[in-house]
Amino acid sequence: MTAQAQKPETLALHAGWRADPSTGSVAVPIYQTTSYQFDSTERAANLFALKELGNIYTRIGNPTNDALEKRIAALEGGVAALALASGQAASAFALQNLARAGDNVVSSTDLYGGTWNLFANTLKDQGIEIRFVDPADPENFRRATDGRTRAYYAETLPNPKLAVFPIAEVAAIGRPLGVPLIIDNTAAPIIARPFDHGAAIVVYSATKYLGGHGNSIGGVIVDGGNFDWEKLPERQPALNAPDPSYHGVIWTEAVKPLGPVAYIVKARTTLLRDLGAAISPFNAFLILQGIDTLALRIDRHVANAAAVAAYLVKRPEVARVIHPSQQSGVQRQRADKYLGGKYGGLVGFELAGGREAGRRFIDSLKLFYHVANIGDARSLAIHPATTTHSQLSNEDQVKSGVSDGYVRLSVGLEHIDDILADLDQALNAAGGGLAVAAE
Ligand code: PLP
Repeated sequence: MTAQAQKPETLALHAGWRADPSTGSVAVPIYQTTSYQFDSTERAANLFALKELGNIYTRIGNPTNDALEKRIAALEGGVAALALASGQAASAFALQNLARAGDNVVSSTDLYGGTWNLFANTLKDQGIEIRFVDPADPENFRRATDGRTRAYYAETLPNPKLAVFPIAEVAAIGRPLGVPLIIDNTAAPIIARPFDHGAAIVVYSATKYLGGHGNSIGGVIVDGGNFDWEKLPERQPALNAPDPSYHGVIWTEAVKPLGPVAYIVKARTTLLRDLGAAISPFNAFLILQGIDTLALRIDRHVANAAAVAAYLVKRPEVARVIHPSQQSGVQRQRADKYLGGKYGGLVGFELAGGREAGRRFIDSLKLFYHVANIGDARSLAIHPATTTHSQLSNEDQVKSGVSDGYVRLSVGLEHIDDILADLDQALNAAGGGLAVAAE
């Protein structure tokens, strides 16, 4: 059976690693080393010249990290991956790899707050303009495109809105123009397959479901190997013009013998080399460990979240439940098309009692942790308006779907009865719904 034909459950346990070549270790060892002995000066020169691939220095590559990269590339259906120190580093590198000062990227407005800050401020300060557009109409991406647009960017299942992004529609707009679609698939690993729908690059915060146990920050960029970077060379100068940072190399030409991996090789050999957001091998090990059970965990997250959404709908304190199961029309069609009926582990809801009820609800939780994270095996809750999205202006909060009474749940793997019992007592404490309903 070829790796291609294997199912995610199998790839998650086997892809990219069999046993340690020197010891036979089945578990991927933590190669806690900074550097690697070169067999000869010729070998060292070849490694630096990219004539041979191999280990040089852990900032640029490490065997533990390599196993993680291969596993995620296989799981995602891509050709290669780059593991990084965080999801933020993955999002930043994914764009910086293509866009330079004076260039622009068209991005969905529906983004994680940290990505929004990165795009609206830090990348802007670096001269990269991010043009935010409403993904409800995919044509907004075409309208915002000009000759200096280097990429489109979006999240598959963006929280807090949980409105699934039209991946195929936007990828199809970009491809004839030479503009790749980069998808942050953090909230929907295994469930959504962005490459199958035309995305060119996938990024992850591995901190979330991939690691799955709330113990390690990490990020990954996956190259789909499915985008023709050379078709319109003037559209992608970073990959088609000589790069002075590597002896004037033209990445699309130089990397050809290795396969369709110009994008990811450039990211490693220039951005990771220069900016240094390397993941620690220890974190890579823990994330690999998490991926072993990813498929099982995702199914349980999905089932528990669906049960929570169905429960919240019935509560009088809750004004609105945000979960794909509660959507209709085109939003629901997109959720069904891209998530295949598995709507993820996140549930949002608005308390009728607004900000004050939100505060009481969060403070009353006993089982749910009140933390700024998602995708942990444990159930988590947060009030985005005062935390994750607090650095956004009120207007930008509204654009990204955050209202005063909005609470976000990342539903964990506990028994559903215990999850619902905790929500029940916290909603009773939050109150406010009946009074509002009677107004
Ligand atoms: N992308 C999404 C969708 C996220 O939710 C997050 C973090 O919450 C990130 C990216 C950033 O990842 P990290 O915290 O690993 O830097």
